[in-house]
Amino acid sequence: MSIVTSQLTKTYHAGSEFPVHAVQHVDLEVRSGEFVAVMGPSGSGKTTLLNLIGGLDHPTSGKVLIDGKDIAELNEQQLIGFRRDHVGFIFQDYSLLPVLTALENVEFVMQLQGVNGQQSRDRAVELLQKVGLGEQLHKVPAKLSGGQQQRVAVARALAPRPRFVMADEPTANLDAKSTAELLDIMQHLNETEGTTFIFSTHDQRVIKRAKRVIVFEDGQLTQDKCQ
Ligand code: ADP
Ligand code: MG
Repeated sequence: MSIVTSQLTKTYHAGSEFPVHAVQHVDLEVRSGEFVAVMGPSGSGKTTLLNLIGGLDHPTSGKVLIDGKDIAELNEQQLIGFRRDHVGFIFQDYSLLPVLTALENVEFVMQLQGVNGQQSRDRAVELLQKVGLGEQLHKVPAKLSGGQQQRVAVARALAPRPRFVMADEPTANLDAKSTAELLDIMQHLNETEGTTFIFSTHDQRVIKRAKRVIVFEDGQLTQDKCQ
């Protein structure tokens, strides 16, 4: 599976006298199984890029092609299906549902896909064990540490077996130990399940672990290197 952006551009007009060119004319290709960091200062367009690629936001101009197909040609229902079945999102603030337990948070997304009860339970337990939370299945997010909540979010993102995972500054609120653990988990899943990871960060410790680093400045892709 490949993700290609072609002259991808997003311009915001809201709330400012001048238009904001959040993402400008970006040409990028990410192949199946890559582990890519998008790096850049705050306001450089990282979140906008991930949201555009993941179909959470629509470009002003340019295209996002998944396996050669322009996602702008999907209708709203197809786009929802595309996101649900193929894209996993991990957010900086974890975005777990507070009234659900760790297990229920992970099961929930599979139920949306129509996976039956026992199957979704088994997969959720397996994933939570994989991220080291086998003993915390029945705790609500408020009873977990930040690092543990982010690991629930990783399990949730992986549950529907997405083809790629977008992680927007996933370690921004984590200490050094939790950051290292989270990266180990992501890297392991990348290597064993072949899941493509695209994550934004400005944390040097995270950048060091990426196989490819893309640099953003003022909405433009200024560097793209493998390491
Ligand atoms: P980053 O994730 O690198 O911090 P963002 O993609 O969030 O950057 O933002 C890029 C630019 O677009 C910033 O100047 C930001 O203020 C602007 N921006 C982002 N979202 C919106 C929005 N919904 N409305 C108006 N401007 C926005
Ligand atoms: Mg951001």
